Formats: sequence, C-alpha cells, structure tokens
Amino acid sequence: MTRKLDGSKLVIATHNAGKLREISALLAPFGVDCVSAGDLGLPEPDETGTTFVENALLKAHAAATAAGLPALADDSGLSVTALGGRPGVYTADWAERQWFEGEPGKDYKGRDWYMAMGKVEGLLSQQGPGVDRSCWFTSVLAIAWPDGTEAVYEGRVDGTFTWPPRGTMGFGYDPAFVPNGFDKSFSELALEEKQRISHRADAFSKLVADQFAGQTGA
Ligand code: IMP
Repeated sequence: MTRKLDGSKLVIATHNAGKLREISALLAPFGVDCVSAGDLGLPEPDETGTTFVENALLKAHAAATAAGLPALADDSGLSVTALGGRPGVYTADWAERQWFEGEPGKDYKGRDWYMAMGKVEGLLSQQGPGVDRSCWFTSVLAIAWPDGTEAVYEGRVDGTFTWPPRGTMGFGYDPAFVPNGFDKSFSELALEEKQRISHRADAFSKLVADQFAGQTGA
C-alpha cells in the first residue's frame, strides 16, 4: 500500500507559478496545504534522468530532503512513435533557442515552440507521406517524503501529430496534437475539455484515487 499524505504541508516542487496554481487548486478540496519550492527558496535540481519517472522522482526527493516536508513534483512531455519516443524527456529542450538582438550582450535564450514542433514535423516527413503520426503526452506525478518513501502516478493521452499546427489556446506542443476521438487540436479545444482528457488529468485522478480514496473533494 502506498504511503498517504497526512495533512502536513506539501511542497510543490516547481518554480513555475502556473503549475503551482493549477496543482494547488486541484489539491485544495482535499485540505492539502501547498507551498512552492520557489517560495521556500529551494534550488532547482538538474533534470538528469532519462525517463519521466526518474526526473519527477529526483525533483520530488530533492525538495522533500531540503524542506523536511513531503513534496510533489511532475515531469511531462511528448513522445512520438515513429521517432522512437522522442522528444520524450527532452520535450522542452527541443524548444531552446537563442535570439540575436543585433547588439552585443542583448542576445537572450528562450523557448520557441513553433521551432520545436517543426523539428518533430521535419523528422516525420523525412520518413515519407505514410509515416505513423501517432504520439502521446505523458505526465508523471511523484510524491516523496523526507525519509525516502515515494509514490508515483503516471498519466497519458494518445493522439496524432498534425501539421500545420492549429489553434491559439494552450501552450507548448498543443497546436500539433489532436487527441484520439477528436478532430480538434489541444489548442482548439476549450480549456475545460483539454483538462478533462489530458495526461495531467489522468495522472491526477490516479493520485486522488490512491491518496484520497473515499473523499469526495467537496
Ligand atoms: P516539464 O514537464 O516542465 O519538464 O516540461 C515538459 C514540456 O512538455 C513542456 O514544456 C511542454 O512543452 C510539453 N508539454 C507538457 N504537457 C503539455 C501539454 O499539455 N501541452 C503541450 N505541451 C505540453
């Protein structure tokens, strides 16, 4: 049986304000008091794992050890069947680029999602028009306790990599991802619809079923 959260504070091991808001809102109905790793001034560990599970666990353990509190971390990304599961844990890295502003010292680094989706499309189209465009998003949620205990919940949503990208909502690779059973991309679907079927929703429902079994969240 997995260890259960016992009502103490839970560290959300992210420095991303959007993720903190989303995760805190999902856990609030169960009386979980969330605090972010950023607010506690905890360092962000390098994501050196080669799987989503390894990366989620290393972030959760680092925060739990540093804070002396249970910690929840997530790792997510897109895997494409015909690319052997790439970009996978490197999903965000494929979007890294540098912008040149023309003046020395004014260059900056950032993420270009259109470029990242273009890399996937480039590799797929090299394989010819009949290439298998199936792909999936993974979300892994890991909870770690300061004594080293851990619990892992993995969610997934399957779909097709579509080109050109469509829609204006969402983030990351959403415009190029059409979930199975739909004809709209994640960027064309209403946020509530995406949140109902997404990999993150799947992982969260597994976490809630295991950690808060029998509680309605009301
Ligand atoms: P991380 O989980 O913060 O390491 O980031 C993984 C990357 O996967 C994100 O930066 C996104 O680009 C991508 N990703 C994860 N979930 C989604 C999603 O729901 N839609 C689009 N892209 C996503």
